[in-house]
Amino acid sequence: SQQIQFADDMQEFTKFPTKTGRRSLSRSISQSSTDSYSSAASYTDSSDDEVSPREKQQTNSKGSSNFCVKNIKQAEFGRREIEIAEQDMSALISLRKRAQGEKPLAGAKIVGCTHITAQTAVSACLSGGPGVGHQLFPREETNSKDALVLSGVAVFAWKGESEDDFWWCIDRCVNVDGWQANMILDDGGDLTHWVYKKYPSVFKKIRGIVEESVTGVHRLYQLSKAGKLCVPAMNVNDSVTKQKFDNLYCCRESILDGLKRTTDVMFGGKQVVVCGYGEVGKGCCAALKALGAIVYVTEIDPICALQACMDGFRVVKLSEVIRQVDVVITCTGNKNVVTREHLDRMKNSCIVCNMGHSNTEIDVTSLRTPELTWERVRSQVDHVIWPDGKRVVLLAEGRLLNLSCSTVPTFVLSITATTQALALIELYNAPEGRYKQDVYLLPKKMDEYVASLHLPSFDAHLTELTDDQAKYLGLNKNGPFKPNYY
Ligand code: NAD
Repeated sequence: SQQIQFADDMQEFTKFPTKTGRRSLSRSISQSSTDSYSSAASYTDSSDDEVSPREKQQTNSKGSSNFCVKNIKQAEFGRREIEIAEQDMSALISLRKRAQGEKPLAGAKIVGCTHITAQTAVSACLSGGPGVGHQLFPREETNSKDALVLSGVAVFAWKGESEDDFWWCIDRCVNVDGWQANMILDDGGDLTHWVYKKYPSVFKKIRGIVEESVTGVHRLYQLSKAGKLCVPAMNVNDSVTKQKFDNLYCCRESILDGLKRTTDVMFGGKQVVVCGYGEVGKGCCAALKALGAIVYVTEIDPICALQACMDGFRVVKLSEVIRQVDVVITCTGNKNVVTREHLDRMKNSCIVCNMGHSNTEIDVTSLRTPELTWERVRSQVDHVIWPDGKRVVLLAEGRLLNLSCSTVPTFVLSITATTQALALIELYNAPEGRYKQDVYLLPKKMDEYVASLHLPSFDAHLTELTDDQAKYLGLNKNGPFKPNYY
């Protein structure tokens, strides 16, 4: 079976190619540092809301007060959520078991900033395993943080943090008496930014930064370009396994979840137009086709357009179908793909939503005019009403449908978390000089390793190359099996 080496002989991470396509900067778990996932469950006690967690004196069962959460008494609920998440994160658990033996992060002091969900909690427990000095995570989502506090991870985070609270939490994580981080695990770049701004001397001890989001990675490249990056950084966002799962498979599942939760519509026989047939578009089209919807595709790129044709979709211009479709979904990463003119021509009850970039794809601003009435019909669902009574159903005000209206499958997060953990291990154990003050990508072999860790969940049996076959293909029997661009 494939083995990962935690120490020196691990393949060097490839440097990010100088030419960075837009796809390589596509989104991560958090589109921007301010985007947030909704959590599956929350057990709040109304009395919790009366006092700001910053004012509360709390102590966990181990007698520590080095944390700040809403209510430490809810830790038991959090522990259950973590246990549920663990069911679908077996790869991470197996990595954790290995780490317990080999202790690849012994001595690591990790300061982290990420969304705290049951899934990231599972990951935090991994890197907060034996030998790891400390770990702090601001930004709250579920009760999992309380269970984390019990497992020795110092958490500063609660639901409904204000902007000021958020920076206070970050500060409490960085500025700790008698403790200094030597690794940064960031999602959005806010933590890295804070350390640069307020505590630049902390970088003297930092061995590396692992960054997960598009926004954070973008900031790291800017720092690197300006010659200001003072430690090595790993761009986890652009690793192949993450991209495929985040964009194609995750969207294939979450498009239906988001649409169903918001509209209760039945999709069999409905006419849907999907703008953009990249990874996200392909996922959305496949899901809708499987439900019996009639799917049209718009594209600007002849290759993707031809792929859509081969997959059995009609490729059209948006203006050709806009009058007849029941649903419009944007997945282009572009701006103003759906304009006011399109919106004017839509039929009554047409549903409009975005699965692509931020809030730029649908020209929502053009709908904020006096002749149109907005009616909020349920959370994340607006009816925009024309003077003749026609209604367009706008979801999540044109922001990402799945981030705003559904949850992300645990399995997808497991892939990201496994990649993050490996990046931390690699940076922490790398011999002096292996990584310069630059941004690095995961090598293909590591991506393949992350994938291989997830195969047992499906009882998938990988075929091994014979010596003869390996020679014939010019490959190492243990990979990498594909070129970096694959
Ligand atoms: P991609 O580059 O593979 O696909 C986008 C496609 O849109 C391309 O094929 C491009 O030719 C096409 N396109 C561009 N402008 C167009 C236009 N005006 N009309 C029709 N087609 C047009 O990118 P992707 O991986 O599919 O990601 C698309 C967007 O979705 C990105 O902004 C990415 O950040 C975001 N994303 C969202 C999620 C999510 O969970 N909702 C997940 C991953 C990525």
